[in-house]
Amino acid sequence: MVRLSRRDALRSIGLGGLSLAMAATGCGTDEGESDMEETEPAVGPQAYTLPPLAYTSLEPVIDDQTLALHHDKHHAGYVKGASAAVAALETARAEGDFGLIKTWERALAFHGSGHALHTLYWTSMCPKGRGKPSDDLAAAIKASFGDHDKMLAQFAAATKAVEASGWGILAHEPLGKRLVVLQAERHQDLTVWGCMPILVCDVWEHAYYLKYQNRRAEYVDAWMGIIDWESANKRFAAATG
Ligand code: FE
Repeated sequence: MVRLSRRDALRSIGLGGLSLAMAATGCGTDEGESDMEETEPAVGPQAYTLPPLAYTSLEPVIDDQTLALHHDKHHAGYVKGASAAVAALETARAEGDFGLIKTWERALAFHGSGHALHTLYWTSMCPKGRGKPSDDLAAAIKASFGDHDKMLAQFAAATKAVEASGWGILAHEPLGKRLVVLQAERHQDLTVWGCMPILVCDVWEHAYYLKYQNRRAEYVDAWMGIIDWESANKRFAAATG
């Protein structure tokens, strides 16, 4: 697996300022480096790149082979697919030929969403878990769900029940100023536009099948024990600040 310094990691995320904040706060990163405020340019297309992992293992919850394949092959595939889509659309504009516009717009939505959600997934987890909800996030969870356990129960239920391949997502919904649980199918379906993901759990079979086979619920329950709440707190602060 690729491991880079925090400075390199910040430069490699390629998702813009807010997403940079989302992705650069994973556990294991060096919080002491002086370039924490370094940001990518706010405007202008940037190449999609595979972000590095800040840890080498999430055993025993996620086996090392799954972690390596998932990051190095599956996530890398979405980076490649999103890059191909934007390149094809650039060619289409240059040639004035939009005969395959539906193909490439669909590819951009699928691979672009896959890249974004996997980037968030890596920083939603930490070996043994980390931290707890901040006072602000805890207050938002209480206001939106009643209490922390009710939120976790809904998150787990929704994630386990995703039809086929998809994601469980705890997100901030800005129009209602509330937290919501989303149940995304594939990567791009069943979202609410404008939501900022706070925690995401991948339930495509490639995320768990080597260790858990068809026991998705067992994987989701174990996953709850490695949530990186410190990273979630930073994403919530960025979404609401
Ligand atoms: Fe995945």
